[in-house]
Amino acid sequence: VALPPETERLIARRELLLGPAYRLMYDEPLHFVRGEGAWLIDAAGRRYLDAYNNVTSLGHCHPAVVAAIAQQAATLTTNTRYLQEGILDLAERLLATLPPALDRMMLTCTGSEANDLALRIAKAATGGSGVIVTETAYHGITDAVAQFSPSLGAAVDLGMQVELVPAPGDPGAEGDAGFGVAVQAAVARLRRRGIRPAMLIVDTMFTSDGVRPGPAGFLAPAAAAIRQAGGLFVADEVQPGFARTGEGFWGFQRHGVVPDIVTMGKPMGNGHPVAGLAIGAALVEEFGRNTRYFNTFGGNSVSCAAALAVLQVIADEGLQDNALRMGARLMAGLAGLSDRHALLSPPRGAGLMIGAEIRRDGHPDRAATAAIVNGLRREGVLISSCGKDHNVLKIRPPLIVGPAEVDHFVETLDRVLEGVQ
Ligand code: PMP
Repeated sequence: VALPPETERLIARRELLLGPAYRLMYDEPLHFVRGEGAWLIDAAGRRYLDAYNNVTSLGHCHPAVVAAIAQQAATLTTNTRYLQEGILDLAERLLATLPPALDRMMLTCTGSEANDLALRIAKAATGGSGVIVTETAYHGITDAVAQFSPSLGAAVDLGMQVELVPAPGDPGAEGDAGFGVAVQAAVARLRRRGIRPAMLIVDTMFTSDGVRPGPAGFLAPAAAAIRQAGGLFVADEVQPGFARTGEGFWGFQRHGVVPDIVTMGKPMGNGHPVAGLAIGAALVEEFGRNTRYFNTFGGNSVSCAAALAVLQVIADEGLQDNALRMGARLMAGLAGLSDRHALLSPPRGAGLMIGAEIRRDGHPDRAATAAIVNGLRREGVLISSCGKDHNVLKIRPPLIVGPAEVDHFVETLDRVLEGVQ
């Protein structure tokens, strides 16, 4: 693809300064200079519908969050070694969204750190070290967490203590107990290698596994299986949390389970780096007695102000309900397209977390998926793909998306599918 000279110049400069581990999205990389609501604006002033970004879930630059950050930054930013009310207000508000058994909060800056901390706590609480994850899971970037993030690919060695289970199938593909049976088998494999399990950790919408919402309930037998083996059940809510699924504030709630640890991040600060975990008092006891936890920026005053503002906006603007309603509209639109376009399978998802497979003659079509993602980008609509076979369209508009934007998405995808052979 021939790129504009300015794009070429930025790419070259980036390679020189940042090195090869940084990857750009799309055949024709984008350079944004501004964002508002569901829209991103590039250097030439062109507007793109952001149907991919689940960080700025309230819309880009939401004024209430911007004001909260600015006000706190202009007043004081300090850390958890001093008394401050913001972190306590935030912990109270977050814990109120969670089951009563989860009654302690710990704050970090990133989802990776939250999962890393979950592992440390799980090891201390169980005396085990084994970790069970799904085949194409992503949980983060620290050395320990990358070892249980198989979606990073062959370049990252999975840890000796890691066992993989297949992601749960589509509704009807297996019984409710299928995932639990797979977890039991993974526990047995760990045991044969002399490893005691510390935790089963899953993204409760199985996003990087290709978005696997159902059948709701299949997590319960899996949670029971890991607990029976002495390990913890950790819900990674970095993707589904904060009302995205519409059906619950947290993804695990769709399954009627109570995790031992809930990790969270991404949309928690609407773009400001703030993340953390919720846990029960008894489980964090062993860890807390033997070590201190100080994270310089985790739980700083500005991050807490940002996260408090996010919770307030979700409540004030009824965004969980909007996610449910707009999600249903989007699913209906996509279902209509799948009736007319042979490549597009019926969509699956909950709220505004949606996946739709691209298949040709029944087989996953990675090339066509990439063509559709890049075709949408050329038409000014942003999504990406996921799944073991890289053939699932990953669709995650912000929670504030409106009916006109949803319809615009469906019309644009219709046009792009028309052009993909
Ligand atoms: N868990 C899941 C499910 C994620 O999707 C991600 C980020 N894509 C992470 C953890 C890591 O979060 P962060 O990038 O904030 O470290």
